[in-house]
Amino acid sequence: MGENMEIMPGIHNLGGKSVNYYLVEDDGEIILIDTGLPGNSSKIVDYVEKTLKRKPQDIKTIVITHSHFDHVGSLSKIKEITGAQVAIHPADADYIQGKSEHIGGAIINAIIKLYGAIYRTKPVEPEILLKEGDMIGEYKVIHTPGHSPGSICLYDPEKKVMFLGDNLQYKEGKLESPGEKLILEPEKYEESMKKLLNYDIEVIFTGHTEPVLSGGNELLRNFVGTFEK
Ligand SMILES: [Zn+2]
Ligand SMILES: [Zn+2]
Repeated sequence: MGENMEIMPGIHNLGGKSVNYYLVEDDGEIILIDTGLPGNSSKIVDYVEKTLKRKPQDIKTIVITHSHFDHVGSLSKIKEITGAQVAIHPADADYIQGKSEHIGGAIINAIIKLYGAIYRTKPVEPEILLKEGDMIGEYKVIHTPGHSPGSICLYDPEKKVMFLGDNLQYKEGKLESPGEKLILEPEKYEESMKKLLNYDIEVIFTGHTEPVLSGGNELLRNFVGTFEK
C-alpha cells in the first residue's frame, strides 16, 4: 500500500510500502489492528490527531493478528502512549511477553535478529486473551492457526469485512498463501482457510498486500479449491 488513507468509511490503512496496519473507528472508539515494524508510533499518533482529529488515548484496543515482528514492532511504544488494552490469541502471546524465542521459521528468525540488533522492543503484557468467537467491537474473532499458532482473523458481518493478517496475500487478482516457508503448520492452515468459507466476505484486508474491495467470497473459494490438487 502507498500512503495512509481511509480505505472505506471508518477503516484507515496506515501501511507503509510493505506492512499494513489499520485504524478502525468503532462506535466512538478506535481499534488499532497490528502496529507494523518498530518506529511507527509517531506516525500512528499523527494520523489520529491530524486526520481523525482525535486523541491517541481514544485508541482503546490494539488487536494483534499474530505476533510476527513486522506486526508487533511498534506495540510496546504505542501501548505506552495510548494506554490501550492489547488483545492477542494466547498461542501467540509468549513472544510479545518476551517469554519465548520467535515461533516462526528460519527466515523470520533471521529478520528478527536483524531488527533486534537495531531496535529494542519491550515485552508487553496483553490484557485480553482472544478465543474463537470473541467480539472486539463489531468484529468477531476467528482463530486460524497455520501461519502462526495464534493467528486470528477479524470479521464484521454487517460490512462483510475480513481482516486476514498474513493468512493470505492478494496478488494479480488472486488470493495466495504467504508461501510454503511461512506456513508453520500446513494441515492446520488448510483447515483454517476452509473455515473462512463459512463467512460471507466481500472485503479483505491483508497484512502485506492491496485490499480486496469486492468479491472476497469467490476469491477465497478459488484459493481453497487449489488445495485438493
Ligand atoms: Zn506473519
Ligand atoms: Zn507479516
